[in-house]
Amino acid sequence: MANQEDHFKNLISHCKEYGFIFQSSEIYDGLSAVYDYGQNGAELKNNIRTFWYKAMTQLNENIVGIDAAIFMHPTTWKASGHVDAFSDPLIDNKDSKKRYRADQLIEGAVEKIEEKINKEVEKAAKRFGETFDAAMFRSTNARVVEYQQKIDAVNARFKKAQEENDMEELRQIIIDLEIACEVSGSRNWTEVRQFNLMFSTQLGAVAGDASTIYLRPETAQGIFVNYLNVQKTGRMKIPFGIAQTGKAFRNEIVARQFIFRMREFEQMEMQFFIRPGTQTEWYNHWKETRMKWHRALGFPETKYRFHDHLKLAHYADAACDIEFEFPFGFKELEGIHSRTDFDLRNHEAFSGKKLQYFDPDYTGPQNSELRKTQTDDDWKDNHSYIPYVIETSIGLDRMFLAILSHSLKEEKLDDGSERAVLNLPPFLAPVKAAVFPLMSKDGLPEKAREIMDLLKYDHNCVYEEKDNIGKRYRRQDAIGTPYCITVDHQTLEDNTVTIRERDSMQQERVSIDKLAAIIDERVSLKSALKRIV
Ligand code: ATP
Repeated sequence: MANQEDHFKNLISHCKEYGFIFQSSEIYDGLSAVYDYGQNGAELKNNIRTFWYKAMTQLNENIVGIDAAIFMHPTTWKASGHVDAFSDPLIDNKDSKKRYRADQLIEGAVEKIEEKINKEVEKAAKRFGETFDAAMFRSTNARVVEYQQKIDAVNARFKKAQEENDMEELRQIIIDLEIACEVSGSRNWTEVRQFNLMFSTQLGAVAGDASTIYLRPETAQGIFVNYLNVQKTGRMKIPFGIAQTGKAFRNEIVARQFIFRMREFEQMEMQFFIRPGTQTEWYNHWKETRMKWHRALGFPETKYRFHDHLKLAHYADAACDIEFEFPFGFKELEGIHSRTDFDLRNHEAFSGKKLQYFDPDYTGPQNSELRKTQTDDDWKDNHSYIPYVIETSIGLDRMFLAILSHSLKEEKLDDGSERAVLNLPPFLAPVKAAVFPLMSKDGLPEKAREIMDLLKYDHNCVYEEKDNIGKRYRRQDAIGTPYCITVDHQTLEDNTVTIRERDSMQQERVSIDKLAAIIDERVSLKSALKRIV
């Protein structure tokens, strides 16, 4: 873990040193949990966004994209449940004054017990060697069974307390688990209070409750309120999806771990509208499809896992996360939620506008509330319903962090020197190729400029002639440039250049006529997209 901590610190300074991420308003000492993307970060972020957006809209004929405003009518957030329920339980340590999320304290304590179990299993595996049966050990070893019972008991209390909004019980669980503040070491806790995470502001010049609006805490609602507009103008047939990327804002209680949890961040969300009753099938479809998208990056499969939600959000009938192994452990990267007709049903109720879909082959209740009490027979002549929704929701910044944390490597080279290299999937790299004249004389710069002109209309390329070639390679390695093209004296004679590949550092000599096609094939998004379908 110490190593991972160092790796994480190293990553944060690498991001700053190479123009990926800066603290917001750094000259004023920064603003807590808000970050700016620099020249390389903005490119990488754009490429990740494009990869997501194209995978959604280009690979699926029935998914279209929109770009809704950040400000929305305030009733939106009443209908969605955010005004009443989008809050986190907050608790302070009286001695250190440090603020925590009560749910995260409990989850952290449970994780610690899980770690103890894992240690026991590892120890036993070493002792018993090949004949070791982990499942058997877990179900029979007295100590492990005791730990597991403790976890189950805590989880059961935790789930109930969350469902019943029982803040006292949450505090009691923290006391019973003997959780101490990491700063003061004391167990001197305040009461647990609910804290709404939405930022509010005023629209126009008139102050007062009537003009209070919110910065959207998720992009999803912009999709729901446009459901009918898109369905009608795009003549969409169910099942179909609407995708959107954009900023979201949450006044997080504990914002930390760099860009993992920010107060201003970007989401990439897709809402897939389906017939009631088909949600399990589509939920499984999107779980699988989203995992394929992640795997198209070529990272080890063991970096990802599914985690089913213990407590379902107020709108969901099934939900899971795709977790990624960050330097600080497995954490949520993306959520996949079966949201039923919760959102559209509420928007229908609050707006008074019908948000139903006419489906001639459907016979059944109009919405999920009626489904609970009535049978399909009661609705033989009904062919309209409020669609159910499967949502996939991923944080662009979190994806950025996942990619960077896996790609940054410190390598010792054969000659004893060291290099920092970002082995990003080439299609995501901020710069696809760097073009170098070996020396800045003898007509080499002019020839190198010709190569820039050959490539720059298709890809983001850079031209560099400062410093010796070794230094120039290192700078490109550190920002993840997959190919460096060098123009030397031989180029002037036979029209060939060397291409040096970032990871292997191997060089090959190729004819300039073939250069554009070679680079194109190796850095294009196309092959990554092909891995998804
Ligand atoms: P968490 O449990 O980590 O607070 P969440 O379950 O509230 O996340 P969702 O509301 O499902 O998250 O949001 C979908 C995605 O948006 C998350 O999977 C995550 O990638 C991203 N996300 C949510 N909150 C933040 C944040 N404060 N900073 C960066 N990304 C975020």
